[in-house]
Amino acid sequence: MDERFDFIIIGAGCTGLAAAMYGARLGMKTLCLGAMHGTELPVGGVITTTNIVENYPGFIRLSGSELAEALEKHARSYDLVDIREEKAEKIEKAGKGFFVKTKKNNYHGKAILFATGTKWRKLEVPGSAELENKGVAYCALCLHPDEEIISNSNIMKIKEVTPGTRVLTKEGRYQNIAGFTRIDYEGKIIKIRPRLFNESVSITAEHPVLTLKVNRGIGNNYWRDFKFEEPEWKKAEELTTDDCVLYPIIKEVEDKEFIKLSDFLELRKQNDSVIPHKKTHTAKVLNDKIYLTKDLMRLFGYYLAEGSASGHQLNFYFKENSSLFDYPSCRKTKRVN
Ligand SMILES: Cc1cc2nc3c(=O)[nH]c(=O)nc-3n(C[C@H](O)[C@H](O)[C@H](O)COP(=O)(O)OP(=O)(O)OC[C@H]3O[C@@H](n4cnc5c(N)ncnc54)[C@H](O)[C@@H]3O)c2cc1C
Repeated sequence: MDERFDFIIIGAGCTGLAAAMYGARLGMKTLCLGAMHGTELPVGGVITTTNIVENYPGFIRLSGSELAEALEKHARSYDLVDIREEKAEKIEKAGKGFFVKTKKNNYHGKAILFATGTKWRKLEVPGSAELENKGVAYCALCLHPDEEIISNSNIMKIKEVTPGTRVLTKEGRYQNIAGFTRIDYEGKIIKIRPRLFNESVSITAEHPVLTLKVNRGIGNNYWRDFKFEEPEWKKAEELTTDDCVLYPIIKEVEDKEFIKLSDFLELRKQNDSVIPHKKTHTAKVLNDKIYLTKDLMRLFGYYLAEGSASGHQLNFYFKENSSLFDYPSCRKTKRVN
């Protein structure tokens, strides 16, 4: 399909989005293309990769993705602006204007602006290549390839992530991967294990961690001045055992009639069933589709309230004579395995 615009901007980072606003204010039908392919950056550009922006006038502190979202919303508020997640693959001079080709469309524009950002500029002085990541660093905010992160279908190791994987961000929403960076690192690695968790996370010393302090009293005064302080980003190496580390709560909610086990677990499928990896006397062939009935959700509720998993069993704990036992399928035992 061929479409015509007055102004075409290649790149939808801060620069491209700001230019789109000006294009529209000058009455130009404006197209802003932001790449969304493989290792390219999404709409919002490179600023989406940083946790804190503290020098943007008008905002005391906000995250890079919040700033990018605000810029995108502002640019989209102009009827004359069209932002599309497409990569410009070919650009040619065509008559008095320009021709831009993406995988989906052909565009013609009277004027064109390149707002395609930059790549890390290497130091290029003697020794800098040899000393890279041994003092000369371009980015020290990394996780080990074996660290696990939450993707929209699984908990997976970073090294297994592909450009198509969507990962959970601190805003509690799943986002496409903005890009991949790999560095050799010989500095300090900080291991953080939150209280009551078995799993720990190992990160570089400079890596920012969202934390908050809890003001609480001692003994009978525990609740008297109880207060959560404002969350703040701290370098991993500055954390103490007084800090509470925060993690995102998934905000994407969807009503579903059923879930499929195979969407979450890597299990072999046979017709409508899933087969366990190993054959043991407790491993069973199960229906892939699990219907989210009221009873099942109630069971999940019991587990979230007071359940635990150990070895090959799930444990549910109830108080004796609890009204929960009115529920027909609960047995009156202290512990139900
Ligand atoms: C970790 C980090 C922290 C930072 N912190 C701050 C800060 O606190 N304060 C501050 O002021 N600045 C900060 N910066 C710098 C700031 O993010 C950048 O200067 C700014 O975002 C650059 O914007 P841009 O639009 O010029 O480029 P980019 O954000 O790089 O955007 C370019 C866009 O063009 C797209 N593109 C490229 N080729 C094509 C194509 N062929 N077709 C379509 N699209 C294409 C890319 O995918 C990308 O989305 C930080 C940068 C980083 C990396």
